[in-house]
Order: sequence, then C-alpha cells, then structure tokens
Amino acid sequence: MGVERMKNSMKAVTVSAIGSFVQGERDIPRPKAGEVLVRVAVTGLCRTDLKLIRSGHRDLSLPRIPGEEVVGVVAENGPGAVRHSVGARVYVYPGEWCGRCPACRSGAENLCREMRIMGFHRDGGFAEYVVAPEKSLIALDDTCGFHDAVFAEPLSCCINALELSRLSAGERIGIWGGGPAGTLLKRTARYMGADVVVIEPDGGRQERVGGRETAAGELFDVCIPAVGDGEAYRAALEHLAPRGRLVAFSGLPAHAACRAADYNHLHYHEQTVVGAYGCALRHGATALELIASGAVAVSDLVSHTLPLSALDAALDLVAERRCMKIHLDPKE
Ligand SMILES: [Zn+2]
Repeated sequence: MGVERMKNSMKAVTVSAIGSFVQGERDIPRPKAGEVLVRVAVTGLCRTDLKLIRSGHRDLSLPRIPGEEVVGVVAENGPGAVRHSVGARVYVYPGEWCGRCPACRSGAENLCREMRIMGFHRDGGFAEYVVAPEKSLIALDDTCGFHDAVFAEPLSCCINALELSRLSAGERIGIWGGGPAGTLLKRTARYMGADVVVIEPDGGRQERVGGRETAAGELFDVCIPAVGDGEAYRAALEHLAPRGRLVAFSGLPAHAACRAADYNHLHYHEQTVVGAYGCALRHGATALELIASGAVAVSDLVSHTLPLSALDAALDLVAERRCMKIHLDPKE
C-alpha cells in the first residue's frame, strides 16, 4: 500500500448551512477498504455548485465539502484497493453505487437507489484531498492535461443526455443556452453528425458559441434546455418537431418546476419528453476519449482558473453569467 502523505490537514471548503460556507483546515480523510485518497489537481465549478451552496439541492446532506468535478493523483490506497498505483493520474467519477439494484443492473448507476454523489452525499473536491471508491476512478491518458480531463464530468452528463435523446446523424437539434454545458452539448452533437443550433439571447455568448434566436415555426428533432429556466422549456416544447424528443437536462428552480407540458400537443405529434440527470461511469470513459482525441474541444471553455480561496467571487461570476467554465486550484 503506497502512501504519498505529507501532512495531516488540508485546505477545504465546508458548507454547514445553506447560503454560506467556511474555508479552513480539515483533517485529511483516510481511505477505507476499497477506497482511494486522491490529491485534487483541478476541481471544476459548475452551476450546480452555485445552487447547492446558495439555495440547496435535493441530494445535498450537511455538513458537506462540495465539488463533483475532480481530477487528481492517487495519494494513498485503502485496504484492498489495488487497481491504481500511487501517483497515477485519475478522473474521479462522482458516483458511488450499489451495483445490485435494477438501475445499476441496467447500466444507469446514476439512478441507483443507494446513490451517493461526491460533493452531495459525501465530501467532494473543494479540498486538497478527496476519498473515492477505487471503482469510480478512471486512469487518464498521459497526453491529457488535468484542465482538459476535468471536463470529463460535465461532458459525461451531456453524452448521457444525447444518448437518451436518441439523436442520430443528420437530425436537427436545438440547444437552449450557450454556457459551458450548452457548448459541450453543441460540440458533441456536431461530432455525432447532427445539425446543431444553439439558442442564446445574450449577445456576448451568442457571438462566442455561434448562437442565435429561434426562427418562427422552426422545428427540431431534439430540443435540450441547457439553462434552468422555465421559459427555455416552454420554447423548447414549442419548437419540437413531430416525433421529436425533449430532454429535461437542466433542473428548474422550485417555483418554475411544475409547469405542465401540453399533453394534447405530445399526443397529436407523438413527442417524447425524457429526463437526464448526471452520468454513468461508462460515460466518463467515452468523455475522456472524446477529449483526448480532440473530437470535442474543451480547453477554450475555461474562462478563469482561480484559487479555491476565491470561491465566493467565483460563485458570483457564475450567478451573474460573467464567465464560462471556472477551474479551481485547491492548493491555493
Ligand atoms: Zn444501485
């Protein structure tokens, strides 16, 4: 059992009550049987973290170190953990699943009835170290840098959504929102051979992602709202073609979440609405292949790399949509 341990405490962000967090030193966690201690190289900040810290989240239990987008280096193997050697560079799939329930057996471990998500149900990557089950780690290609590899998590969620949409080459897809998720969906859908339109009202983002407003009567085979906005869902249904599929990809704020779809519209047009939440482990392997091969470019999406100590300012940037992807360096 190799050990890379240098000290006993680490910098970490802890949320003890919704709406605030504290930064300070915490004991470095110890990996139990089958677990691995990972020294975090880069942790990605996403809109879900903003929601989780400032408004709460269905899957959050407190107190918690957030952070579900993590890449790093294996620092210590717990008892019986043998798959990755100390020093190995890894992507950490944020899920911990039972492997026995119907969802797990169907390959949808993200829907496991005992799902424990890193940064939600157990401590995550807004810290110098994180503990994860060894089966959740995927070794990184030597050529894939940490700042690219950390996109494996958000890209995995996009791949899951596109799988569920049953998008095929030559079909038209409309993606609402030109933020990091919308842009990853766009690039992946284009790689799959689809004809992609990003619907983005913000002038600055319109230019960056080649987005535009919808045309009157324009229809898409697949519509994906990549913004947590009831208006985007309404527009996405309006622009859904006959036999079209709408993917409920972005969670909605509680006050906007209960909008009913027009079931007669679905009935007469034989349309499908399908949810997508998170990703399975295998999506991580696919995402890392797409990133490492250059099939889906990611590096230009990083607008800020900030020390973990700047988290509050980073959350403001996300809240005000003044950024694309923010990467946090937990050492600082
Ligand atoms: Zn399960």
